[in-house]
Amino acid sequence: MNSPVLVAVAWPYANGPRHIGHVAGFGVPSDVFARFQRMRGADVLMISGTDEHGTPLLVQADKEGVTVRELADRYNRQIVEDLAGLGLSYDLFTRTTTRNHYAVVQELFRGLYDNGYMLKETTQGAISPSTGRTLPDRYIEGTCPICGADGARGDQCDTCGNQLDPADLIDPVSKINGETPEFVETEHFLLDLPSLAEALGAWLRGREQWRPNVLKFSLNLLDDLRPRAMTRDIDWGVPIPIEGWQDNNAKKLYVWFDAVVGYLSASIEWAHREGRPDAWREWWTNPEAVSYYFMGKDNITFHSQIWPAELLGYQGKGARGGNEHELGALQLPTEVVSSEYLTMSGSKFSSSKGVVIYVKDFLKEFGPDPLRYFIAVAGPENTDTDFTWDEFVRRNNNELANGWGNLVNRTVSMAFKNFGEVPEPGPLEAEDQALLDLASQAFEVVGDALSKNRFKAGITHAMHVVGETNAYIAAQEPWKLAKDPEQRQRLATVLWTALQAVSDCNTLLTPYLPHTAQRVHEALGREGVWSGMPEIQEVADDMDVQPVGAGLPEAGAHYPIITGDYEAAQARWQRIEVQAGTALQKPKPLIAKLDPELAETGPEWAPVVK
Ligand SMILES: [Zn+2]
Repeated sequence: MNSPVLVAVAWPYANGPRHIGHVAGFGVPSDVFARFQRMRGADVLMISGTDEHGTPLLVQADKEGVTVRELADRYNRQIVEDLAGLGLSYDLFTRTTTRNHYAVVQELFRGLYDNGYMLKETTQGAISPSTGRTLPDRYIEGTCPICGADGARGDQCDTCGNQLDPADLIDPVSKINGETPEFVETEHFLLDLPSLAEALGAWLRGREQWRPNVLKFSLNLLDDLRPRAMTRDIDWGVPIPIEGWQDNNAKKLYVWFDAVVGYLSASIEWAHREGRPDAWREWWTNPEAVSYYFMGKDNITFHSQIWPAELLGYQGKGARGGNEHELGALQLPTEVVSSEYLTMSGSKFSSSKGVVIYVKDFLKEFGPDPLRYFIAVAGPENTDTDFTWDEFVRRNNNELANGWGNLVNRTVSMAFKNFGEVPEPGPLEAEDQALLDLASQAFEVVGDALSKNRFKAGITHAMHVVGETNAYIAAQEPWKLAKDPEQRQRLATVLWTALQAVSDCNTLLTPYLPHTAQRVHEALGREGVWSGMPEIQEVADDMDVQPVGAGLPEAGAHYPIITGDYEAAQARWQRIEVQAGTALQKPKPLIAKLDPELAETGPEWAPVVK
């Protein structure tokens, strides 16, 4: 029953503040899933961090006139605040510029190298003829040699999803200044994907429970597997841990080679901070453990191909054979959960003026749960979805405030006003029993949807029970019963039934709306922590690890992490019987209604441009 569940959440890139599209795809859905799994009694480890390597950080640091470390520090802290503010319940949210991460990445590389899956080859590297500097892959654009689409990047074609080499592009140009790059010979290590294709295919064909589009896409990638460069000509990243290479500060590991190892290194860091250094193995080398990886659709390749290939080669499970290394038989992903995009074009945001919806601004004005609700009910789960202020205001006011907030408020208010406590019910009538049955059966319906990552279906059913409870109150008219002293027992029964349904709805909505759920818990006269909240802690880079090479992170550097004590929370995925006699208070309004004009204008910091 207490099966270990690893919730591995995509690592946000630390080159700027996050906008709501960034958190819609992976942030909120992964947290809904983790909270649900904890409520059903699973041993959850939810980990992530900021991804701080790669050329976009260098380009942004140049633009802002700061060092790349300063830039990474600033955006790491900003992103930590954004994600904690949203209530995302990470056990550890860290970063890729820790000494521990460098050491774990280097261990993975050495395992792959020792087992023969890293091929040293001379390849074509792009440089800018005007500056002589290396041109990052993703800053080169051209026509895709595989599908013929325009606008393919040097690292990947977004149209067909294939990974590319810049030298393969037809008519390549630099996105930085439009010039045609020059290609020069350079030595790199390539991951020998063809020798891992059979093992990858065997693993993928056992993934029948994946969303069909993700599985088909991943299987298709196997048709054209070539060795992929896992090192770059760049001076910012994890050193290549091989004699003769590690001290060369002009070559580092490819950012995607190291970013996916973050799931493992963050688990190891978490265990260290728990004071149980081997505890990470419960989720990684235990065959009973399951792992769910959450990401946007543009990152499927790295999770269904590159990361599993790294894991297979590390333990010698490809055509070249090899041995298991120090970290042992690491488990491959159980499930890759990808989402589509949340776009912002319908509100006519002026992107040229830099008007986007930043998480920080959004949280400051509206708080976390209205955004969590919108993402769950109208987010990009299966198709690209457009965010509009119009729809946000409508859903917040009609569904969240009028539907749910008002239900809690009027039910508790009437019980408080007439009884001062949860009343003792009399005999139940058929309509009382029907509502209670609907609410109790919803645990299975919503739970089934959540366990299959069907978040929209889950919240839609929970809100259906909210709607039926409102309809029950409208039909029973307790305000009329309250005027007739002879109906006092019937009034007690109706309010008791409604309170039980409210309690059930609150449990069903807890993974989605954890902040609101805590307040409903208190409004029902209950005490203590219902749904655990993340907290930010300042820590030192203090693990006893030995990364090697040039340009390592400084030992002892301080950084913020997100963590939390979620064990203390009471929320469980089951009905709590409401107890007659529980004292009630006059409730405070639960959810603020928004000015309808906001639908037309948007807020000042992200106005709708007419
Ligand atoms: Zn293509």
